[in-house]
Amino acid sequence: MIVAIDGPAGAGKSSVARAAAKQLGFKCLDTGAMYRAVAWLAVEEGVALDDEGALGRVAQECRISFIHDEGDPIARGITVNGHDVTEAIRTTEIDKAVSPVSAAPSVREAMTEEQRRIGRTGDYVIEGRDIGTVVFPDADLKIFLTATNEERAHRRVRQNADRGIGSIDYAEVLADIIRRDEADSTRAAAPLKPADDARIIDSTGTYIEDIIENICVLARMVQASDGAC
Ligand code: C5P
Repeated sequence: MIVAIDGPAGAGKSSVARAAAKQLGFKCLDTGAMYRAVAWLAVEEGVALDDEGALGRVAQECRISFIHDEGDPIARGITVNGHDVTEAIRTTEIDKAVSPVSAAPSVREAMTEEQRRIGRTGDYVIEGRDIGTVVFPDADLKIFLTATNEERAHRRVRQNADRGIGSIDYAEVLADIIRRDEADSTRAAAPLKPADDARIIDSTGTYIEDIIENICVLARMVQASDGAC
């Protein structure tokens, strides 16, 4: 079973996806981390971020693995070609580089293929921007999680402060979120938008626990109705 959770930056997708996967006994895939990993490698190799051909080559040679503690299906980190980049992909530099990298069709093609391969290996909660529209258009449950720009920026500042990585300047984070949403929504390849059959959840002013519970109830209902067929 695939639960797709899409939505703009800072809407709480990661926290919701991880907690829902844990409750459901599913695995969890953070596709944003994969695009960030390609962006990290492109920056590391000094590739021009508007060079579509070179970005495609970087995506092809990028071996991405998730780091798991023993027995924990939820990844605690990510490696690229053997380098642990768990923290390096969350810097302000990568926040900026990831939009042009993820807009490259050749990069999307490589990542989509890999995400489909991973998703076919079990029950997954998969979070991203195009999971319900492009990667798994037949996902069993599609959620589009959103919140106001201001709430998303406040959450991202708190998350960056907790992690000790990335900007904790509210104005800078708000500007980055607005810039990335604009780039993600207006690009030609797999733009950020809700699937026609997605349930739209606005998390503004809502307890994250209630959203997780809501998604788990929906997922169990879909599971039960699939089992009944
Ligand atoms: O989810 P996160 O904010 O870490 O994603 C970083 C960036 O990766 C997004 O701003 C977007 O440009 C890109 N992305 C994407 N498609 C996905 C997931 C992320 O284009 N499925």
